[in-house]
Amino acid sequence: YAAKERSETFAWYSDAQEASRLSHLSLLSDLRSAIQNNELQMWLQPKIRLNDMHCYGFEALVRWQHPKRGFISPIEFVPFAERAGYISHVTNWMLEQAVQTLAQWKNQYPQLSIAVNVSTNDLRDQKLPERVKQLIHQYQISPMNLQLELTESGIMENPDDAIPLLHSLRATGIGLSIDDFGTGHSSLAYLQKLPVSELKIDRSFVIDIDQQESTQKLVKTIVEMGHSLGLHVIAEGIETQAERDTLIKLSCDSMQGYFASKPLHGSTLGDWLTSLPHNQNRQHS
Ligand code: C2E
Ligand code: MG
Ligand code: MG
Ligand code: MG
Repeated sequence: YAAKERSETFAWYSDAQEASRLSHLSLLSDLRSAIQNNELQMWLQPKIRLNDMHCYGFEALVRWQHPKRGFISPIEFVPFAERAGYISHVTNWMLEQAVQTLAQWKNQYPQLSIAVNVSTNDLRDQKLPERVKQLIHQYQISPMNLQLELTESGIMENPDDAIPLLHSLRATGIGLSIDDFGTGHSSLAYLQKLPVSELKIDRSFVIDIDQQESTQKLVKTIVEMGHSLGLHVIAEGIETQAERDTLIKLSCDSMQGYFASKPLHGSTLGDWLTSLPHNQNRQHS
């Protein structure tokens, strides 16, 4: 800011805006201490294969339990953390939680994977592949059980940095998934160049898909395109049986959404894991 510009900006602030600006300043210092104070949580939402309805893995979703403000949604604080240049701390924290959890599961649930969301800013962080490698080594997990979810728009915002970074990440052996697929602008030709293993169809295409023939055609095309590129195709935000049945009809590989399960944490996650057929087999054999 130039001094003049700043004073004009301040003059223009209404009381409400000023209050909001101050609350954001305190939010940033709060976010800085949130990690140390154990206020962040990793919740896990199951991913379900549609051919046998088995859970093969989870997506990690961050939650912030603020001591005074209560629960703050990632929709609110992730963009804020990005603007404040703080998102890499959140990403690193989530990555370590995910890898730690995979290490705990190694013997009992070796087939389960965890996908961590990374933001646009993380795709500029050239140290990310090295950090992933280091965590895999430190916790002795198989890289195949770890995945990163990145958005099309995040890649397209800065492809010159992002695409080499994706190649370095893929070289560590982890999976890469394109999140919110269909909402960005990447072409088929572009997609073919990206070293990704999964397409995640955005929830906006799934809502009422059973009643929308035009959306069904669109999703069928996305699934076929994904398969022709050798990618696993998952749809997010499935809330009803009718939506699920339609996705099966369209040959989609997997689903995620409230119909199968909301994100889980603590004892509900424990219960979910114990109910997995794989675990039952182990107990009975
Ligand atoms: P996303 O990665 O596309 O995650 C899906 C969001 O949809 C999650 O919201 C999830 O709880 C919600 N969801 C799942 N199934 C359903 C459903 O059936 N119906 C509806 N209505 N919603 C469903 P959440 O956890 O609030 O996260 C919102 C967004 O915040 C995420 O979108 C992601 O972009 C971002 N985010 C969450 N955790 C992280 C994180 O650890 N790091 C980063 N960088 N971003 C994160
Ligand atoms: Mg995601
Ligand atoms: Mg998504
Ligand atoms: Mg989405």
